[in-house]
Amino acid sequence: MKQKITGFDRDDDDHWRAILECGHRQHVRHDPPLIIRRWVLTPAGRNSRIGIELDCKRCDEECESPEGLQQNREP
Ligand SMILES: [Zn+2]
Repeated sequence: MKQKITGFDRDDDDHWRAILECGHRQHVRHDPPLIIRRWVLTPAGRNSRIGIELDCKRCDEECESPEGLQQNREP
């Protein structure tokens, strides 16, 4: 389900998460060389992503299993 990004926070391991308008959070890691998201490292980069839609897996999975597989994908 597509949900807009309303903000960002970090988890206990210092990985960035996007806060979606549905209230769920989705990791947007910068984890080179596997995942390159330099924009997430700067406030300006993160601000530029606010309002962009991500595919919220949690919303999709809530119908199926509460603790389903969590995956990260580029929008
Ligand atoms: Zn959601």
